[in-house]
Amino acid sequence: MTTESVRTSLFIGGSWRAPTSDSTLAVVSPVTEQTIGRVPAATTADVDAAVHAARLAFRGSGWRDLTPGERATHLHRFADELEARSEDRATTVTSENGMPIALARFAEGAAPVQLLRYYADLIEITPVEERRVSRPLPGTTVVRKEPIGVVAAIAPWNFPAVLSMFKIAPALAAGCTVVLKPSPETSLDSYVLAEAAEAAGLPAGVLNIVNGGADIGRHLVAHPGVDKVAFTGSTAAGREIGRICGELIRPVTLELGGKSAALVLDDADPEQTVAGLATASLLNTGQTCYMSTRILVPAGSYDSYLDAITGMCADLTIGDPMDENTAIGPLASARHRDRVLAMIERGRAEGATITTGGGTPAGIDRGFFVAPTVFGDVANTAAIAREEVFGPVLTVLRYRDLDEAIALANDSAYGLGGTVWTADTERGIDVARRIETGSFGVNYFNLDWGSPFGGVKASGIGRELGPEGLAAYQHLKSIFLAA
Ligand code: NAD
Repeated sequence: MTTESVRTSLFIGGSWRAPTSDSTLAVVSPVTEQTIGRVPAATTADVDAAVHAARLAFRGSGWRDLTPGERATHLHRFADELEARSEDRATTVTSENGMPIALARFAEGAAPVQLLRYYADLIEITPVEERRVSRPLPGTTVVRKEPIGVVAAIAPWNFPAVLSMFKIAPALAAGCTVVLKPSPETSLDSYVLAEAAEAAGLPAGVLNIVNGGADIGRHLVAHPGVDKVAFTGSTAAGREIGRICGELIRPVTLELGGKSAALVLDDADPEQTVAGLATASLLNTGQTCYMSTRILVPAGSYDSYLDAITGMCADLTIGDPMDENTAIGPLASARHRDRVLAMIERGRAEGATITTGGGTPAGIDRGFFVAPTVFGDVANTAAIAREEVFGPVLTVLRYRDLDEAIALANDSAYGLGGTVWTADTERGIDVARRIETGSFGVNYFNLDWGSPFGGVKASGIGRELGPEGLAAYQHLKSIFLAA
């Protein structure tokens, strides 16, 4: 993107409205450090208007009362319009957050379309009512699934398009309406989403978008017109949102941070394992919540694995994220780059050995780049092994036997992802059964639209994706019928 993309309105109630204030949010290129776009900063009055529009669409114009088939037709039309704009959305995300374009084309271009179609199809085959024989008294109970209502969807900057759609697609399919608040770092790509919704003729108010930071997020979370909150972001913000929703007795889904382990077993193929870790541990320059960044290797082959992982990281192509061959782009913002560099300094101060990287990459003098960094000789008690870094930073730890490896993997405040690397898939599944986590991969890690994703412990509450991700937007009602 060479010219600045300036947006002057907000998508509320199915139309483009002037914001109630003239303050704006700048979107900064992580490559050039220049402002590439500007959007209106929503005020609390704009949030009130968006929630009001979503309430009207839920009740007044009856999105919830459409048949599942009618909603599915709308969602497929929305998917068609979004598909026609996939390349635009992917390049917009790459320009906003530095995601390597080859990844953005799939994750931010194609995947949101796939999710809309998946939930459109699912809602058509999910019965709304079920009749059960009641007990102890003879009779029948009708168990109904009803949409929860207005959803506040709050998204982070790392995968802004697809993580918004993790919420929007099941919520709309269930009959809920949505107010989306994207992250300020990535405010531009949601305009492509709004344009697709408008072109698809999605009924007014079913999807509304407000730009802003944490304060606008707080106003939305606590809004009396909101019935459910769906949040992806940091554990710190998740705790605050969870507290507010607890106070309000408001359903909430929290997809939070992680510090997942890769367990390399003694029968693993070293070459395939290290090649697989390039994705399982460093996808999107490490700015992915489920990365296996604590790599646990057998003590007997520690040195050779540390060498191979170091070599893999040193060989990754760093550079312009718009280049198809780039594996490692910049971090999304200056603030985040500084946070990652501070974590690297902490690791160094704790006495761990840096075998490659350790700062900004040589030869790149602008942009928020951090060189892929590997820490060896790390104790599992060190901050670099315990806290989420959210960047291209790996720690390599040694273990003596499988029980110790599993104990180390589980000795974490988090429980989101994780992987095992082994020649024996069944042995891998056995290890997976013993790990305290919400998701786990054997010899790779990939999300499945049809299966639940989420965390345990400080990684969150609730699940997205799959039928469980749809159920998260439905209330259950039991209607008792006398015999
Ligand atoms: P963040 O928590 O700072 O912000 C996330 C979003 O929440 C943004 O839109 C932000 O404006 C908003 N926000 C922040 N504080 C808020 C508050 N108190 N009330 C309401 N809204 C608030 O996180 P981030 O830095 O944008 O994203 C990185 C974090 O997200 C990492 O910790 C990462 O692990 C996590 N993440 C988790 C998943 C998952 O599925 N579990 C996926 C991606 C990212």
